[in-house]
Amino acid sequence: MVPRFAAFVAIICLFLTFPVAGQTQSTPKPKPHVVVIGVNGMELDVIRPLILKGQMPNLAKVIKKGAYGKLRTVSSPNCPRVYSTIFTSTKPEEHGVTGFLVGGITANTNMLKEEPIWSMLSKHDVTVGMANVPATFPVMPVNGYMISGMLTRGKNCEDGILCAPKLSEVEGGAAVYPESMKAELLKNVGDFYIDCERMPSAEQLRGHEAEVIDSWLKRVDVIREQQTKLFDYLLKNHPTDFTWMVQSCEDRTGHWLYPIAPYNVGYNPKINGVRPDAFPNQYIGFDKVLGTILNDIDENTYVFIVSDHGIKPLREFEETDPHAHMDHEKTTPVIAKHDFADGDDVPGSFFAMGPGIKHDLRLMGFEASVYDVAPTILHIYGIDQPEQMRGHVLTQIFESGDNKVAKK
Ligand SMILES: [Zn+2]
Repeated sequence: MVPRFAAFVAIICLFLTFPVAGQTQSTPKPKPHVVVIGVNGMELDVIRPLILKGQMPNLAKVIKKGAYGKLRTVSSPNCPRVYSTIFTSTKPEEHGVTGFLVGGITANTNMLKEEPIWSMLSKHDVTVGMANVPATFPVMPVNGYMISGMLTRGKNCEDGILCAPKLSEVEGGAAVYPESMKAELLKNVGDFYIDCERMPSAEQLRGHEAEVIDSWLKRVDVIREQQTKLFDYLLKNHPTDFTWMVQSCEDRTGHWLYPIAPYNVGYNPKINGVRPDAFPNQYIGFDKVLGTILNDIDENTYVFIVSDHGIKPLREFEETDPHAHMDHEKTTPVIAKHDFADGDDVPGSFFAMGPGIKHDLRLMGFEASVYDVAPTILHIYGIDQPEQMRGHVLTQIFESGDNKVAKK
């Protein structure tokens, strides 16, 4: 453990008595409001046609009122690896969460060796709310609340990898901070799934393809409904200055139901011919979630929609097993992936709107990277970028002089 992280742990422990966000605060002046919406594996090749066809009206609105473009990601991108990079603006080798497994153990927050943004914001009296953000299990104390996401372990999801325990079934650590909030969520939101559904195995699919696909997609719809209810409840009942909420069913669907054509690797008409709209439909579903979130926030809230990577049909001769980290059995017929050695093959995406952010601005090439998200958010709160951060503030998205951005 590096000394810097030891200091972070010591300081954050002082915050253990933070009030739950939404309760009385003695902050003298209001702080900027920022909502980050994470979509695991948002693929621009798939969402752009949907936007053109008018099937993602909420995202189209954000594009019109803000800035958008590709987000350069890291090599061999996957969720824990990239999210921890976004949290800390440091390289995977520096923050320590290099993949789903680190030294044979499922990635967890105890492995994080660099200070994450939620801790920096908490120290600056910014209230923080986080829900279903990947690689945040076990949850850590913040000046607000934290509900873990992907990699949460529990019943039927013992290793925590690409599966979903219900809130009441979590084992091996806390999924909710502060602990008292868990009963409140169970009462008011219900016993929701913390992550998306595990993908079926080849054996489960064989001979029952259409039936398994349809029941799996139904479960995904239920999870998205539960998640929408959770996000809506939190935004209405526990508003925080900084809020970060993430969806992960899009990526999970893409891995085995990407709308590939017969010439693609792994094409099986019995599976890939059944619901070619399953993957695009995930983004149409996401757009509705986005609509709910936008209804819960005001015009002065900064909105960032960030994807850690895209996802593409198999197309490279690489050592990486396309089934790696996919499920227990590693037999799901995976036809698309994102952990290509060259991260530029599967860029993430970035959308931003809010006070002082330029309208209708298209970022070309790789103007923005996953390293730049944290410095840009800190900038909005007038917090200087710490030395270890590798990214930079995306000044080009702000109106000249960024004088509308809050200063210390
Ligand atoms: Zn994935």
